[in-house]
Amino acid sequence: MHRSQLTIDLGAVRRNIRRLIATLDGADLWAVVKADAYGHGAVDVAGAALSEGARTLCVVTLAEALELRAEYPTARILVMSPLLPAEIARAREAGLEITVVDADIPEGVRVHLKLDTGMGRFGLSELLSAPGRNVVGLMSHLATADCDLEFAREQVERFRQLTEPYAGLTRHIANSAAVLRIPEASFDAARCGIALYGLSPFGTDPADDDLEPVLRWESRLAQVKQLQPGESTGYGRRFVASESTWIGLVPAGYADGFRRDMTGTEVLVEGERRPVIGTVSMDSFAVSLGRELLVDTPVVIVGDGLLVEDHARVADTINYEITCGICSDRRRARRVIVDA
Ligand SMILES: *Cc1c(COP(=O)(O)O)cnc(C)c1O
Repeated sequence: MHRSQLTIDLGAVRRNIRRLIATLDGADLWAVVKADAYGHGAVDVAGAALSEGARTLCVVTLAEALELRAEYPTARILVMSPLLPAEIARAREAGLEITVVDADIPEGVRVHLKLDTGMGRFGLSELLSAPGRNVVGLMSHLATADCDLEFAREQVERFRQLTEPYAGLTRHIANSAAVLRIPEASFDAARCGIALYGLSPFGTDPADDDLEPVLRWESRLAQVKQLQPGESTGYGRRFVASESTWIGLVPAGYADGFRRDMTGTEVLVEGERRPVIGTVSMDSFAVSLGRELLVDTPVVIVGDGLLVEDHARVADTINYEITCGICSDRRRARRVIVDA
């Protein structure tokens, strides 16, 4: 077996999309596949999303958009952040749709004008004149749909007021959290990322929102050894055995996406949750086994009920950041695509 393997279940992507489309009640679902589909593989996820009824693919960089354009010649692809002038020319040639965040609107390319309704990031705070003919959409982004619904609803209301005179354009502000919690935020389309992957925008168990994790990450014990009292494992001797302790070494480290701040999280060894001990290395981590086990015993890092959200809590971050960090280099964790 490979050092570690990611299995991406496109069937789960399809089921998550169906569940979101059912909730949207007529508004379009747009699939956000930026950052290599949050580490899941943009081309494969985009294909599943399109075949399941997603109407537009959303990315952030020109390179991400061009990779998808090569695979999907007729798909609608929206680049959601501002581009440089030379990039706009490439976007025009490639038939992409672009996001403009100020009053300077390029010609000959389909434009979505971004309004800042409270995120305090990119965007115009109001529309000073009627958008030109090549403006096809008006968009905004929510700062708190996962944590402060009152503020999010104020943003939605501000967006409604600013865009009401242009209701003929495609209006979109919702992300995954808004689709799941704020029905009135959906307007004409919702840009969903995290929920497609069966990850919770709220950091809770995705099953609570009928979402199914798409990613499984597994490895194996590459070596098993017994530490004697006073012996340690890893850099800095941050774990020192107080009694004789069986440990296993798993060939996934922070360069594979198993972050250094995931010490103390648990992985499944023969179906049992066991703690990760010592400092996570670039190429491996150690797990306390509780008993002697054979080399090659399977280790599940994500899957079988062990959630990305569990690791995110230990690392004091969000699930988004964990999966974006996995498999960024295909020479490390191997990615296998299934459609179950
Ligand atoms: C990333 C992103 C989204 C998707 O957000 P999720 O929380 O993953 O659904 C939507 N809109 C914009 C502008 C984004 O950058």
